Amino acid sequence: MNEIILIKNGELALKGLNRKSFEETLAKNIQKAVAPFGGVKVWRSQSTMFVTPLEGTDIEDAVDAIAKVFGIAALSRAAEAPKDMEAILPAVCEYLSEELQEAKSFKVNAKRADKKFPLKSPEICAQTGEYILEKYPHLTVDVHEPDLVVTVEIRDTSAYIHKQPIRGAGGLPVGTGGRACVMISGGIDSPVASWMMAKRGLELSAVNFASPPYTSRRAEDKVKDLLGKVSEWSGEIRLHIVPFTEIQEAIRDYCPEDMLTVIMRRYMIKIAQVIARKDGALALVSGESVGQVASQTLRALECTDAAADMPILRPVIGMDKEEIVSIARKIDTFDISILPFEDCCTVFTPKHPKTKPGLDKIIQAEQALESEEVNVAAMIERAINGTKLSIITPQS
Ligand code: ATP
Ligand code: MG
Repeated sequence: MNEIILIKNGELALKGLNRKSFEETLAKNIQKAVAPFGGVKVWRSQSTMFVTPLEGTDIEDAVDAIAKVFGIAALSRAAEAPKDMEAILPAVCEYLSEELQEAKSFKVNAKRADKKFPLKSPEICAQTGEYILEKYPHLTVDVHEPDLVVTVEIRDTSAYIHKQPIRGAGGLPVGTGGRACVMISGGIDSPVASWMMAKRGLELSAVNFASPPYTSRRAEDKVKDLLGKVSEWSGEIRLHIVPFTEIQEAIRDYCPEDMLTVIMRRYMIKIAQVIARKDGALALVSGESVGQVASQTLRALECTDAAADMPILRPVIGMDKEEIVSIARKIDTFDISILPFEDCCTVFTPKHPKTKPGLDKIIQAEQALESEEVNVAAMIERAINGTKLSIITPQS
């Protein structure tokens, strides 16, 4: 039996004139997502999107990959049958035999997109129901709360028998909203923030600040592994690893200890936005959440924002740790995030950070770095020039 996957678009339906380009992006993203497992043909007919696995492509692999593509509300596998009740009825019992054996009750739902088909929907339901009852006498019909809904759809080209629908990833197709650059650490929050912005249709770049020898190669690999998981949903991510040691040491040596974190964040932002712009990104993304730690009070956020001249998106800003963790588990980043490799932030964390840093005081403290002797501008330039690019994909 020929099997296909039917796609039900999510918010796409709302997008009026943009609909066509959204659908084209979605089709491309579906193809890219399945590529590691083989290939699919994506086609549209009568306002529905169909996916046909190419020869040698396992349909279950394809379904798993497509379930992570943003812009899809639901998907279902379906078997193709000729448009003739004599072919459709046995095909229903064969294709859904397991489900029919397990269920106690069922109902038939007929969709008739081809108005020329000789039977009307109620007649298709009646004939199909009768046939099923004959083959599976343990079943009863329950139109209100059936265990199983048998959907038979008659379209212009063929008839389709649906399996039970699977929930899609929701959101908008990646690439329809432009590009953002994530500030990625090895923690729990920033991978979740990345996933959330990809879900809103943004393509991702990422920057990670590394401070060797204080941070190790394993910390770098951890960031790559985290983004590898995110890329199963977002598609390819351009990761820039920035050598940050020199700047962090200068901040440690020349600035008051209780201001270290905020000042460090401000330099991260200044560097990240240069890299972001080169990548065509229009915003930065961070995993900050109000009140989580000393550097995430409103006063501290005010200081970080003042260093930026592009928007900083903070999708987890109002979320509890528990809510963030539940997403981290769902996207499979949690177990990697809790591995104990040091991050550049943790290495230089002050014992008593200021929770209410004043922006003027911070800017004043930074002047020590701008002296000719220290010359932080030259350090920033070296950091940007020393950045290493890796392309993160699901297999890498
Ligand atoms: P945690 O789960 O430990 O809170 P986190 O990633 O949120 O992890 P924080 O110290 O709370 O870590 O940092 C706040 C935000 O700053 C991060 O979410 C991330 O966006 C950014 N950030 C922190 N460290 C780095 C780094 N080394 N490189 C790039 N961005 C960083
Ligand atoms: Mg955090």
